[in-house]
Amino acid sequence: MALTVVDHPLAQHLLTQLRDETTPPPVFRTLAKRLTIAIVLEAVRGLPAVHVEVQTPLEPARGTKISPDLVAVPILRAGLGMLEAVAELFPEVSVGYIGLERDDATLLPTTYYEKLPVVQDRHVLLLDPMLATGGSASAAASSIAKKLPAEIRMVCVVAAPEGVAKLEADHPGIPIFAAALDRGLNDRGYILPGLGDFGDRLFGTNPAEGGLSRAVRQAAGHDG
Ligand code: URA
Repeated sequence: MALTVVDHPLAQHLLTQLRDETTPPPVFRTLAKRLTIAIVLEAVRGLPAVHVEVQTPLEPARGTKISPDLVAVPILRAGLGMLEAVAELFPEVSVGYIGLERDDATLLPTTYYEKLPVVQDRHVLLLDPMLATGGSASAAASSIAKKLPAEIRMVCVVAAPEGVAKLEADHPGIPIFAAALDRGLNDRGYILPGLGDFGDRLFGTNPAEGGLSRAVRQAAGHDG
């Protein structure tokens, strides 16, 4: 299977807090960033590295640097919650964006925005926190592959078996990295147990709370 589950205790510690429905958006954002760092550490294993020599205060030392040809492509909007982590780890990263909307009835993705840098022969980290049906990830990978050949690695927070199977079937060469492989999907395409709607939790736009985060509602006196 192309899936690597990052089961480091720190990754699981962060994921558990992300799953907790009482975690408010500001904390959710911080946790998402920290967890992305843990997953990306695994995802960049084996990327081409260049050998360099640096001077320590005492003597020369040989070392390596990951080659700077990395491209990050967050799938809008939830993938934005993973971008800052990648940009902090790799300040020279080129960033592209793919906006995909899921039709609630068919669960099929349609593209509403696409801006990709030249990705030929580069290494792409495709960022989408919830690999649910796999439709968006597969469509995004097709868009990238259509533009130019590149090596793509899928980085997500939680994967469902359905999403992993779809991506494997459509793009067999793409390795997938996630902090968990969950049980499956409900009839609305949400991952179970999952963590709910990642974008809503990241941006404080949960429709069940009138588009306001719990903290904002409490501050406004809407919740007890
Ligand atoms: N997208 C989400 O944000 N959550 C899911 O569970 C599935 C897709």
